Amino acid sequence: MIDSHCHLDFKQFEQNRSEAIENAHAAGVESIINIGTDLESSKFSVNLARANAGVYAAVGVHPHDASTVTDTLLAQIGELASDPKVVAIGEIGLDYYRDRSPRDIQRKAFRAQLNLAVESQLPIVIHTRESFDDTVEIVREYASSLRGGVFHCFPGDAAQAEAVFDLGFHVSFGGIITFPKANMARTASQVPIDKIILETDAPFLTPVPHRGKTNYPEYVKHVYRKLAELKEMPAAEVEKRVDRNCQKLFGLVDTFGG
Ligand SMILES: [Zn+2]
Repeated sequence: MIDSHCHLDFKQFEQNRSEAIENAHAAGVESIINIGTDLESSKFSVNLARANAGVYAAVGVHPHDASTVTDTLLAQIGELASDPKVVAIGEIGLDYYRDRSPRDIQRKAFRAQLNLAVESQLPIVIHTRESFDDTVEIVREYASSLRGGVFHCFPGDAAQAEAVFDLGFHVSFGGIITFPKANMARTASQVPIDKIILETDAPFLTPVPHRGKTNYPEYVKHVYRKLAELKEMPAAEVEKRVDRNCQKLFGLVDTFGG
């Protein structure tokens, strides 16, 4: 199993970060990708990845923080991206739900980081909320020069997933598919398994049966289990195929197990 998206740099893990990684390992999670949301957390992600076998990093600025993006900051992110443990640029994208940065600034920061992904030839991790059409339209401009990527915590239906696959991208599902009556569970059951990767987005979006508490990378096992149920496939088969998708997309080589 792989947790393709978490935030172990967040303060929720201040006291138990190493334990969270060890517990994930013990639960059968082979790799974790820690995702940057700003310059500080990107640096933290790289250091965490360097210090831990099986942990990888993504570097980038979240749309909430788009207002902080300057040429100097982009150069710093670009420098971090050259570290061998960095496997993606992210999370980047558009968030018209919270609108914490003005939308034109969000689009500008998104484009600048898409350029960074083209330069570094790294896949991208996309955050999109209430902004799906704009996100797809912008990614399409860059798609032919990009190394693919993933729409994380995929918020759409099967038709929107098709638009993502047309770009050559994957979709990622997290704890939400374990919630009763979740629309995302229906999408997950409809789209081809070869386009799916899984995640926790820890410390957020904790899956059933731990819903309401802090999320941990080890809980990705509940998301794998739910996907197997939705696909009516053996758990081992789902694990093998999803992990292969993820390893291929991000070029993961080194795991806890060696
Ligand atoms: Zn995230």
